[in-house]
Amino acid sequence: MKNQAATALPDSLWAASAPSFQADALQGDHSCDVVVIGAGFTGLACALELAEQCTSVIVLETQQVGFGGSGRNVGLVNAGLWLEPDKVNATLGDDYGNRLYQELSTSPSRVFSLIDRHGIECEAQRRGTLHLAPNACGLRELDRRAEQLASRGAPIQRLGSEKTVELTGSTYYKGAIFDPRAGTIQPLAYVRGLAKAAISAGAAVYERSPVVSATQHHGQWRVATPGGTVTAERVVIATNGYSAGLIPSMPASFVPINFFQCATQPLDKALLKRILPQKQGCWDTGLVMTSLRLDRAGRLIIGSVGEIHDGAQSGFLTAWANSMLKKFYPFLAPQPWSYCWSGRIAYSSDHVPHLHQLAPGMITTLGYSGRGIGPGTAMGTWMAKYLLGTPIESLPLPVTDVQSIKTRKIQALYYARGSDLYHISQRLL
Ligand SMILES: Cc1cc2nc3c(=O)[nH]c(=O)nc-3n(C[C@H](O)[C@H](O)[C@H](O)COP(=O)(O)OP(=O)(O)OC[C@H]3O[C@@H](n4cnc5c(N)ncnc54)[C@H](O)[C@@H]3O)c2cc1C
Repeated sequence: MKNQAATALPDSLWAASAPSFQADALQGDHSCDVVVIGAGFTGLACALELAEQCTSVIVLETQQVGFGGSGRNVGLVNAGLWLEPDKVNATLGDDYGNRLYQELSTSPSRVFSLIDRHGIECEAQRRGTLHLAPNACGLRELDRRAEQLASRGAPIQRLGSEKTVELTGSTYYKGAIFDPRAGTIQPLAYVRGLAKAAISAGAAVYERSPVVSATQHHGQWRVATPGGTVTAERVVIATNGYSAGLIPSMPASFVPINFFQCATQPLDKALLKRILPQKQGCWDTGLVMTSLRLDRAGRLIIGSVGEIHDGAQSGFLTAWANSMLKKFYPFLAPQPWSYCWSGRIAYSSDHVPHLHQLAPGMITTLGYSGRGIGPGTAMGTWMAKYLLGTPIESLPLPVTDVQSIKTRKIQALYYARGSDLYHISQRLL
């Protein structure tokens, strides 16, 4: 029973409200040009691009499409990375930093145009997102970020307290950056839509097909699952934060951090006029980030760093969520939480995504550090373009060696316990 829970999608709002999708498990021996391992945004965007360019592609997923971060996240389709643009340049150098910024600033457009082109039903709303500051320290961070974004030509607006109160319906936050390039989606519905689009374009997608080995003979890769094999010239590893033992160096190269969300029942119409009235999705500058958004049915969804074990609601985390709701919207009575779930984020050592050539003909990107809808969709597409002949130097990320983070377990523990302490302090203040 426990194993079953551990292998199914979490009992989340997204699982309850997404259009259904099911695929067979791989059986027997197959061959194709490219095999993609992992069916999240990265793997499926890659498979879609390859299939549309008439390359034969098979996607293998250990559980179900969207089982990883892609089916569990907040659904904020933001431009750029979580890291401030100047810090990205300091890490990657100006050449790659500027290229990555340009590519990712248009990544929401890439996502929303894929949704339009393939008619993906995923509650897509392009009403911008709000980056919110609850205190003076956060306001300084917003000022710095706004200046960096404006100097790069981003059409953002730095909002003062009055406008922030109007757009959030809350006096808790003191200022905001409004980014009109961004929006929200139902993430599991989007990733399932990508799977359907890839299949329509000619890709094959298999669920419940964990890849247990990948070996190379005479220039061909042979990838094995319990039910069958795929032989292919190229392999794309798109397992990101859910990487386990297949390529042992991969899980050692990021810090796993859990993020949880709790969703209310649908709120009544009178309340919805007072809460995020224009339905922007929000994230904040808190030391431990908080997210806030509505879904199409009018449920309020709040999230932060933490883990929900096996679908069981954690009293500690739901108590934190209720205490924050009281601060954001004192007129809202404590809510029964209809859904609580969590997922794993892969934080890279420098909080910038990494592109690795793991072996001849085997490529991966990972470590989106909490910003993966736009970046995952873009990076999947770039990997496909590389496999189709675009020189690797023209991709917006340098190819680097996989580096293991020796202190990753300590760092993961530090983030987990540190966020617990932060949540306790937020409840007390
Ligand atoms: C709770 C949460 C909130 C987030 N909120 C946001 C947000 O609002 N906006 C945003 O932009 N980003 C957000 N992110 C980040 C974003 O969700 C991820 O960066 C993104 O989903 C990564 O996509 P991916 O396809 O690279 O990896 P994943 O979606 O994690 O997919 C990897 C897949 O590989 C499969 N797999 C692993 N091993 C094998 C194997 N051996 N064989 C076959 N398959 C295998 C896994 O089962 C999994 O389905 C959030 C993440 C989490 C967890």
